[in-house]
Amino acid sequence: MLWALLGTLALTLTFVGIVTVVLVDRSLRNRLAGEAVAITEFNLAVLAPAAGVSAGATPEEVAESGILDRFLDRGPTGVWVEFAGGERVSAGDTRVDVAAGLEQIARSGEIGYQFTEDPGGLALVTAARMPPDGPLYYFVTPATLVVETTRQVALVAAGAGLVALVAGGLLAGGSSRRMLAPVAAEVTVIHRRDQFRAHAASVREMREAAARGEESVRTPYEVREIEGEGGCVRAATIFDNDTDEDERLEVDAVIALLGFKPDLGPIKSWGLTVNKNRIVVNQLMETNVPGVFAAGDIAAVAVKMNLIATCYGQAALAVNVAKNYIDPRASIFPGHSSEKMGQ
Ligand SMILES: Cc1cc2nc3c(=O)[nH]c(=O)nc-3n(C[C@H](O)[C@H](O)[C@H](O)COP(=O)(O)OP(=O)(O)OC[C@H]3O[C@@H](n4cnc5c(N)ncnc54)[C@H](O)[C@@H]3O)c2cc1C
Repeated sequence: MLWALLGTLALTLTFVGIVTVVLVDRSLRNRLAGEAVAITEFNLAVLAPAAGVSAGATPEEVAESGILDRFLDRGPTGVWVEFAGGERVSAGDTRVDVAAGLEQIARSGEIGYQFTEDPGGLALVTAARMPPDGPLYYFVTPATLVVETTRQVALVAAGAGLVALVAGGLLAGGSSRRMLAPVAAEVTVIHRRDQFRAHAASVREMREAAARGEESVRTPYEVREIEGEGGCVRAATIFDNDTDEDERLEVDAVIALLGFKPDLGPIKSWGLTVNKNRIVVNQLMETNVPGVFAAGDIAAVAVKMNLIATCYGQAALAVNVAKNYIDPRASIFPGHSSEKMGQ
């Protein structure tokens, strides 16, 4: 009976894992395809005309305009233009197989796309025509982000987990290995000095986990460099703060716990009253600009208590006052959800 239950559980987990990997893979492909189609549209509608490539440009004119190199500067690894007489002008790596359907879509006036295995790995090819009776433009863009992210999700789904580097301190709550257990198989914590400022119990839990060999704690270390590939982290170089000696670690993720610096950024230009980098609000979380509210650490209130609970309270107040601002018939106090059950 127990084995049957365990078997069912294992099958279910495997199924959930496969479904997750497929869904992530599909949503990443859709996202990349959407971005590539938009870039293709921009290339042909804006970039090519701006570079002086007219709709009726000859192959020689396209080659001499330098537009193909400008396209390559913007991400694709290969680009080619096919003219009516079968003539082709190309730049970069164009050794990809393109399905006949892609050409048909482009000929119909739409922007088509297709994922294909090129010699460098998974690639995305977009095709478009400019103008409606003009040449066909093809762009090859590497899809390494899909491959890398899907690899990481597959590792987690298979229970193998990722290799993580936690830089700067402890994850709130103690052992980083325990906190990252659902996704990470190996965890290295580094800190620039030997002492940790975190809660004593958390530091103790981390030290005990390190003593049991569950995570590696390295002090005094800092991050020198992070290497990435296809939009994902592949390695990090850390250095010993005493000896300045470098060490390269192959990791899938780097979690930076290096503190934070509040910065309002573009919000500074909104005309809000600001005091010491905080947005001034009244007791209803209203700023000086009608209809604009602030809540949380960023809000300058009479008594500052930066705690998650206080921030939640301010956010609830701001949202309900905002609702009343939009719809004056709405009560600021929305009532309790428990009272609304069954209504
Ligand atoms: C080290 C540390 C430990 C803490 N421990 C505790 C604790 O144990 N218990 C507790 O209750 N509280 C704790 N706090 C406080 C708590 O974390 C904060 O009060 C709370 O997270 C604030 O929530 P917030 O949504 O207002 O801001 P944040 O959580 O800081 O969220 C603001 C978000 O806005 C983004 N952002 C910033 N600028 C811009 C911009 N210009 N445009 C768009 N987005 C922007 C940021 O990237 C961030 O995601 C701790 C804080 C720190 C720093």
